Amino acid sequence: MSNHFETQSIRTQLERSQHREHAVPLYLTSSFVFEDAEQMRAMFANEVEGNIYSRFSNPNTSELIEKICLLEGAEDGFATATGMSAIFTTLAGLCASGDHILACRSVFGSTHSILTKLLPKWNISHTYAPVNDTESWESLVKPETKILFVETPSNPAVDILDLQWLGEFSKKHNLILIVDNCFATPYLQQPIQFGADVVLHSATKYLDGQGRVLGGIIAGRADLMEEIRFFARHSGPALSPFNAWVISKSLETLAVRMDRHCENAIQLAKWLEDHPDVEFVKYPFLPSHPQFKVASRQMKRGGGIVTFVVKGGVERGRKFLDNLKMASLTANLGDSRTIATHPSSTTHSKLSEEERQEVGILPGLIRISVGLEDIRDIIGDIEQALVASGSYITEEVV
Ligand SMILES: *Cc1c(COP(=O)(O)O)cnc(C)c1O
Repeated sequence: MSNHFETQSIRTQLERSQHREHAVPLYLTSSFVFEDAEQMRAMFANEVEGNIYSRFSNPNTSELIEKICLLEGAEDGFATATGMSAIFTTLAGLCASGDHILACRSVFGSTHSILTKLLPKWNISHTYAPVNDTESWESLVKPETKILFVETPSNPAVDILDLQWLGEFSKKHNLILIVDNCFATPYLQQPIQFGADVVLHSATKYLDGQGRVLGGIIAGRADLMEEIRFFARHSGPALSPFNAWVISKSLETLAVRMDRHCENAIQLAKWLEDHPDVEFVKYPFLPSHPQFKVASRQMKRGGGIVTFVVKGGVERGRKFLDNLKMASLTANLGDSRTIATHPSSTTHSKLSEEERQEVGILPGLIRISVGLEDIRDIIGDIEQALVASGSYITEEVV
């Protein structure tokens, strides 16, 4: 089969059943029947491959994983119920008591809670590395450091880390490099090409892309996946067949959706950058982004997330959100519908003010997940909300 991205995301398919269906059927079954006692014994002993029980594998999750592995260039994978269970399963599956994780400070809010509150219960420690000073990372590696965990672009500040550099750094220090590739998706960036060992996704976001189901993906090196799969098989974070079926079907449109998300996002970012009421805009493919060059090197396009700060502080920011008429105020992102959030009072509210400052989550920061609506309507909604929230410029100047 052709190895082009769009073709793989559409044409990877299970073998047809006797019904000769065109689309992949949904296998809503908790278990699978054995031919005889010998086959049952052999499958449980891992001597023969095959589905046993949907906590271990199911045709729908297997099909989704096969597709993701092709798209990410991974050897093996496992699908989980949520993005967070993908992250927890990976870290818990690979680490033992006494191990240390080096993590970039710019990570998702719940990832922060896993590192700071949950893993320490089992004596797994972490150190945060600053996003803007990678030279200092060398001194943060300890003899017991096993994992380097990063997110690029990061949520919500869209910070970018150099994947080429990360690949070399983790090789030099013999670290397992884990990349949360949620914001980019394999269409925009394939971290394994640069030396990542494991790639993670919240499939809830762009992979489904329509705000319908939760899901998570772990994909990477076969030997690491074996350890992770053992943990998953016995602790039970498996994705449901129905959600796997939905996400796999969504992958057929990933490339066209991402192209439109990116096109709309750069237009919005440029428009905001020229607006007098906007303090600053951050978008990976704007030349004003501090890591613009790195982003252009490793990403096909800039992604669908734009963050900005409105002049007038938190109050103005909240007023702006209250005046949006089309964009939804909701916790999700990567949806066909444009979504606006205020990270410092929602997803990152568990961090202290100081911790938020460190990762660039200013009090007035607004994150827009740019949807697939007509860009004129997206900009129109944001423009009217800026006006309705009171023009800072005119108020100050008068
Ligand atoms: C949303 C998100 C997660 C968590 O995924 P869920 O599917 O909500 O559990 C993890 N990492 C990033 C970067 C995210 O945006």
